Amino acid sequence: MTLEQQDKHYVLQTYARNYTNFVKGVGSTLYDDNGKDYIDFASGIGVNSVGHGNPVLTSALCEQANKIIHISNLQVIEPQARLAEKIVKLSGYDMAIFFANSGAEANEGAIKIARKYGETQFDNKRYKVITLEHSFHGRTITTVKATGQESFHTPHFSPYPDGFSYEKCIADVYAAIDDETVAVLIELVQGEGGVQPFEKEEIQKLAKHLKAEGILLIVDEVQTGVYRTGEFLASNLYEIEPDIITLAKGLGGGVPIGAVMTKHKEILSKGDHGSTFGGNYLSCAAGNAVLDVLKPLYDAGIIDETLLYFSEKLKEIVSKHQNLFEKEVGLGLMRGLRAKSAEIQGAIIGKSMDEGLVILKAGRNTVRFLPSITISKKEIDEGFKRFEKVISSL
Ligand SMILES: *Cc1c(COP(=O)(O)O)cnc(C)c1O
Repeated sequence: MTLEQQDKHYVLQTYARNYTNFVKGVGSTLYDDNGKDYIDFASGIGVNSVGHGNPVLTSALCEQANKIIHISNLQVIEPQARLAEKIVKLSGYDMAIFFANSGAEANEGAIKIARKYGETQFDNKRYKVITLEHSFHGRTITTVKATGQESFHTPHFSPYPDGFSYEKCIADVYAAIDDETVAVLIELVQGEGGVQPFEKEEIQKLAKHLKAEGILLIVDEVQTGVYRTGEFLASNLYEIEPDIITLAKGLGGGVPIGAVMTKHKEILSKGDHGSTFGGNYLSCAAGNAVLDVLKPLYDAGIIDETLLYFSEKLKEIVSKHQNLFEKEVGLGLMRGLRAKSAEIQGAIIGKSMDEGLVILKAGRNTVRFLPSITISKKEIDEGFKRFEKVISSL
């Protein structure tokens, strides 16, 4: 049996999989089982924030694994408390954290906090959550329902939980608020939806309005968090103070971890929420190591340099190939090229692996770039050299 046959026979086929077999990674370079190298502009969909084989992360994991991997949340977990303090201090917000294992789970936690807030803080019960079209919030029954894409709400999995509605744009949110609305849940840069950032002014205006109305602002930073946009959180970049923030993808550098943080520290009480694995020794050792790597890079201005360099490269591509691309989109190291058609997007994604380049798609016609935050200029140069080759072969 080949690897492909084994996968197809024994693994449920829920992904449109590529069968390149990666066996090793160093920084932002991946190697397959034939020794062929690939520049990684995807970082595991924004997960490998410190690249592959980062010595700080791998040695922290080995060290932690040699001591304790897991003890339940019925005991205090020192690396968890340390990671919580680190995240809160980096965020600049007066919040406390619950640790989960994924983005969807972090968003589930956020929705639970909002629901209880709506039950306890108003005269009538408030439970409705407004999200945006083209959003993505996860794959559980609730977070898929929170996701503002009709195609995700397939009747196969119905009935879905009540209380979610979707607005076309930020300007439409105001009129959608009623006396049962408890929260607005948004991504500041829609990732899966097409790498689409919102305007800072319109977000600040919305945040101010929600605050005045006593409605919660939940920011899904599962993809935008942990320096992806150049600041620790996109909320920092947008200079807003959300009520609830969720994190996951880049936080563990590849080790599963999710987090929901809120300034409403008293809403959840003992027994309201929990997770067997969430915030265990191993995942928190990973989170601590990732932040220990990235914070000094941020402080030294290196993340800023990287994202400017990356953006320049994309701008060059757009100006050279106006027949293929409309424009460069995104923020920080969460970038996209808006292709002129879905066919162009498909052809580029289809050819990239042959040329030794890992890239992603987003939305209907966007080629998406989510390199590791630690990617070097040399790797960026090489990646774009290969990207040019992909384009010229179209
Ligand atoms: C990836 C993603 C999720 C889901 O995260 P999982 O870890 O796959 O559950 C939720 N929200 C956003 C914005 C994401 O990008």
